[in-house]
Amino acid sequence: MADIACRYNYDVAVIGGGTAGTACAVVCGENGLKTVVVEKGTCLGGSQSSGLVCPFMSHHIVGAGDEPFPPILKRLVGRLREKFPNCSTNGGISFDPNYLKLLYEEMAESAGIDIMYESALAYANTSDGKIDSVVLATKKGLTEIKAKLFVDCTGDALLADFAGATVFSGEDGVNQRTSLRFEMSGIDGDAFGRYLKEGGQSYSNTKDNLYIDHGTCPAFKQFLNDMVASGELTKQDISYIQAFSMPGKVGALAFNCPELGEYGDLLDPMVASKMYVDGRKAVYRLANAFIKHLPGFEGAYVSAISSMLGIRESRRVDAVHNLTAEDIISRRKFDDAIVRSNYPIDIHGKELSCGKIKLNGDERFYEIPFRSLLSKDIENLMVAGRCAGFDFTAQSAVRIQTSCMAMGEACAHAAAMSIKENTPIRDVDGSRLKDIMVEFE
Ligand SMILES: Cc1cc2nc3c(=O)[nH]c(=O)nc-3n(C[C@H](O)[C@H](O)[C@H](O)COP(=O)(O)OP(=O)(O)OC[C@H]3O[C@@H](n4cnc5c(N)ncnc54)[C@H](O)[C@@H]3O)c2cc1C
Repeated sequence: MADIACRYNYDVAVIGGGTAGTACAVVCGENGLKTVVVEKGTCLGGSQSSGLVCPFMSHHIVGAGDEPFPPILKRLVGRLREKFPNCSTNGGISFDPNYLKLLYEEMAESAGIDIMYESALAYANTSDGKIDSVVLATKKGLTEIKAKLFVDCTGDALLADFAGATVFSGEDGVNQRTSLRFEMSGIDGDAFGRYLKEGGQSYSNTKDNLYIDHGTCPAFKQFLNDMVASGELTKQDISYIQAFSMPGKVGALAFNCPELGEYGDLLDPMVASKMYVDGRKAVYRLANAFIKHLPGFEGAYVSAISSMLGIRESRRVDAVHNLTAEDIISRRKFDDAIVRSNYPIDIHGKELSCGKIKLNGDERFYEIPFRSLLSKDIENLMVAGRCAGFDFTAQSAVRIQTSCMAMGEACAHAAAMSIKENTPIRDVDGSRLKDIMVEFE
């Protein structure tokens, strides 16, 4: 390997400054730990900001109110509401991805953590079942970071894999479908809202609060089929269409599509590159069809395309407890619970594979245990976000942003307990984490 150009030493190195990683790093800093968050991109938030993914999906727990959790999300939403008082939607809390970047950086600054943008994890040095250091590719050359604890928040379990931990991917060789999200602006919301209403849209729309998907408005559904018949769109283009308004962005819609087909190994850069190329073509096919044919889109244009593929699931780490579909469906409880949620199993592009597991209708939520964030193989490694320890089906329920942020926050509190009390991370008392993270019965 080439020479190391720079070396740093931290209590905690959080690899990946996305949804889980930002929450983790900020709370580590607030707990007084010397913390760095390493991010290959140029902002915090990951899928939420670079990936244009909003809203923060609701926990869906009946009777738990509309307020978001975990604690760090509550604070974040408080800050968002100062600027956008009406950011609550039916599905959760919506936000402007650019403004989110600013808020996250303010939180990181006041927590006193170091941010390393434009730094990509390239290698992990391990010995005796522990990570000693990670090596980053930066514009200064290779950079080594030593830390007492590492948290893999890369979404793809990259650090776990580089460190030699067991990882899993997809189910029967197939991952969930990937999307390349985009935004359009310059839409006349009144005209489009009228079109949806007259076309039989089952949801009510206002100029600033529009929602559309491929199934809810008969006229829009017919329009999509007509576009395939005329060759302006492909069957794949219309396989999943969804769009909604964002607070403060008048005349704009965030599109949760196009959804891309089967390409093979998402983590192979050759494959991913092809998906970006095809994805951008699909974005413009959709936008051109809307502009040409839909009332309200006459002056519309593509105002943003996600700079990262929208990966719903790639790799997951082998954890001390791998949460299963059965845990979700039976709504299992854990003494080291760090998340409560009732967000359903939501698999894009693959049939549900949980057989005859019986839904426990008497319970209102399932839980994610802290044990699902602990690598089975590497002693000083925690994994938070969509690549933590879940089976394929369970992952589809727990991948939502609120749960990923909670995983990141829980890792931060665990790190503080471990380092301050000189306790191995695996021996941290999960019930103390539960007291901090879980607030309602
Ligand atoms: C298309 C799509 C739509 C979705 N819709 C919703 C929704 O409406 N609501 C909702 O709540 N959830 C939604 N989700 C799920 C949710 O957004 C994600 O599961 C969640 O944000 C993942 O968080 P994460 O922290 O695991 O990963 P990310 O937020 O993706 O963060 C990973 C970070 O790691 C960084 N990274 C990766 N590799 C390296 C490296 N080598 N070195 C340094 N940094 C690296 C990345 O740049 C990124 O910043 C959606 C997901 C997708 C893909």
